[in-house]
Amino acid sequence: MKVIYSERFLTVYSSDPASAPGRMEAIVRELRGHEFLEPEPAGEEDVLLVHTPSHLERVKALPSVYPVALLAAGGAIKASELACGGEPSFALVRPPGHHAGPSSFWGFCYFNNLALSLQRLLSRRKVGKAAILDFDLHYGDGTAAIFSGSKRASYHHAEGRREELLEGIASFLSREDYDLVAVSAGFDNHEEDWGGTLSTSDYREIGRMVKEGAEEKCGGRRYGVLEGGYNHAVLGRNVRAFLEGFG
Ligand SMILES: [Zn+2]
Repeated sequence: MKVIYSERFLTVYSSDPASAPGRMEAIVRELRGHEFLEPEPAGEEDVLLVHTPSHLERVKALPSVYPVALLAAGGAIKASELACGGEPSFALVRPPGHHAGPSSFWGFCYFNNLALSLQRLLSRRKVGKAAILDFDLHYGDGTAAIFSGSKRASYHHAEGRREELLEGIASFLSREDYDLVAVSAGFDNHEEDWGGTLSTSDYREIGRMVKEGAEEKCGGRRYGVLEGGYNHAVLGRNVRAFLEGFG
């Protein structure tokens, strides 16, 4: 599995839990054996595919955040390009993005990494229709707002009790038509994280379901982007389990 990552994501750019020291280190430690690739920062034109100019200016005014937010967006873009070429990949990036809408951001998010990387592929006609699976504890209101009304992207948030959450994912992946799957991979719904619902092996199973759905429907084209996950003691092994199923 190709993992898009830069040591610049170790930067503590704010005081929120997504930016906490040790968080990325906890994941990187568990991902030995994967091939790591360095991202390029996204350009302003990429950000403006899904965000308003005033949104861009508001993030630009945060000097500790702006460069790392552009690099995180660039990481998602690189993962999306690889996926398009048939190589499943994972963007190990921060800040996360799924709470960033066209002109708003909150919940530790600034630019919507997944949405802008996907919109770039849709705009360039590299993808006709995409399925977006978000299994973070929190609903990706930013992503849902960006693609609201779009016939070219379907958004599904995995929620509910464990069994219904897993069944909901399976049903979404089998029901929809798509030629690429983009995953907002948040790990804060683990039994030892904020949500308290999923086991480590559930993340492996979710990865496997996406792989199977993508192989059945779209030649295996899939990529994931890191969102939440805050218990450093379990985060790394949860990401590793997901990639074992997903790869
Ligand atoms: Zn979350």
